[in-house]
Amino acid sequence: MANVDRPIKRLLIANRGEIALRIHRAAREMGIETVAVHSTADADAMHVRLADHAVCIGPPAAKDSYLNVAAIISAAEITQADAIHPGYGFLSENAQFAEIVEAHGMIWVGPKPEHIRTMGDKVEAKRTAGALGLPLVPGSDGAIEDVAEAKALAAEIGYPVLIKAASGGGGRGMKVVQHAEELESQMGQARSEAKAAFGDATVYMEKYLGNPRHIEFQIFGDGKGEAIHLGERDCSLQRRHQKVLEEAPSPIITPEERERMGGVVAKAMADMAYRGAGTIEFLWEAGEFYFIEMNTRLQVEHPVTEAITGLDLVREQIRVAEGHPLSVRQEDVEFRGHAIECRINAEDAWTFAPSPGLVEHYHAAGGLNVRVDSGLYAGYRVPPYYDSMIAKLIVSGRTREGCIMRLKRALEEMVIGGIKTSIPLHQALMDEADFRSGDYTIKWLEEWLAERAE
Ligand code: ADP
Repeated sequence: MANVDRPIKRLLIANRGEIALRIHRAAREMGIETVAVHSTADADAMHVRLADHAVCIGPPAAKDSYLNVAAIISAAEITQADAIHPGYGFLSENAQFAEIVEAHGMIWVGPKPEHIRTMGDKVEAKRTAGALGLPLVPGSDGAIEDVAEAKALAAEIGYPVLIKAASGGGGRGMKVVQHAEELESQMGQARSEAKAAFGDATVYMEKYLGNPRHIEFQIFGDGKGEAIHLGERDCSLQRRHQKVLEEAPSPIITPEERERMGGVVAKAMADMAYRGAGTIEFLWEAGEFYFIEMNTRLQVEHPVTEAITGLDLVREQIRVAEGHPLSVRQEDVEFRGHAIECRINAEDAWTFAPSPGLVEHYHAAGGLNVRVDSGLYAGYRVPPYYDSMIAKLIVSGRTREGCIMRLKRALEEMVIGGIKTSIPLHQALMDEADFRSGDYTIKWLEEWLAERAE
């Protein structure tokens, strides 16, 4: 359906936790009423308490609640919501859900369904990105099925290679292959894992980059052919392909490189007539960018971009969904200072064992340029059913060094009593020379953790 200019009056937030609260806050500041949906496990959640309306959509298991399309659409109809924001995770990259929302005459606060679909299939995404002029990791041109064909290709690009699931996500369905002898068995394993996890056994091959950084560009399109970039984020600090800490700008990207690559991604998005927020993820090694995937939604780490640009990305998403042009032109986007985000999880900082339960005490850090995005409060019970991230601590400052000092101070102030959290991990990171100098890659955190465990 065409994206006509119509103001949103009542927005249903099809998500939970900190991101539901984040979206609620932006909506309220725009004078938009909010509808929270929640599972029975989240009846006492902060976003439910703050929303204008709340509807219980099912039992704790996500498949019966936050992924329950019929229940969410019914909740929107009952409350007469005129728009749905999916947040991240859950249904945010489900093209069919986006189509159903639009078919019901509601505004989908997200990209065009066809773009969600294309970018959700990694083989298609790579093909599209290549056609749009983005640099790719050397690898198969599309899916690979035949082992002999895979062997020939691996010999050509050189070992190690990576077998990846076309429908993959969250770092799952990936296998590194070191030698030709392992290729057949690893490919078989990747296919069966992909089939089990995503219902799709399609795999493709990429050169395995030895020691890259993860650098992603935030982009925004108006859906009509205008698009801008909001600079990059460095998300190289990862454990099991999951981001732990993110920063903007990247310590190793020069203003010239930012402008050049930013220009390339913005042009690609303009050519697609992409609508709303998106992230183009690259691996970066020895001065070269390699596209790995595009996320057609808001990212967990969007606040670091907000901190250095002064833009409210959720407000921007809502405005674009209403049919407005982008609120800034590329030449008006200014990057100021530095920002770092720590993801705080309900888990043991060193064993990573989940630690849900009762939050007995809670005190959020505060002060100049400190932001805490979290639905926590004293007396809240962290449910065991969902992602373990319970808070994001974001600080900003003029310099990276200043940010690190501020983070140390803010982490000290943060009190989450009664459960274990990853705060001690972040505190230890702040004292690491490699982190302080910005000299780290996607391998660094796991190697550091392994050394500490010895
Ligand atoms: P997912 O959607 O499962 O997160 P991505 O393609 O975004 O998959 O990759 C996730 C992570 O896996 C990257 O951030 C990087 O750490 C690693 N990775 C992906 N592709 C490669 C590659 N070609 N070489 C080395 N590491 C890779």
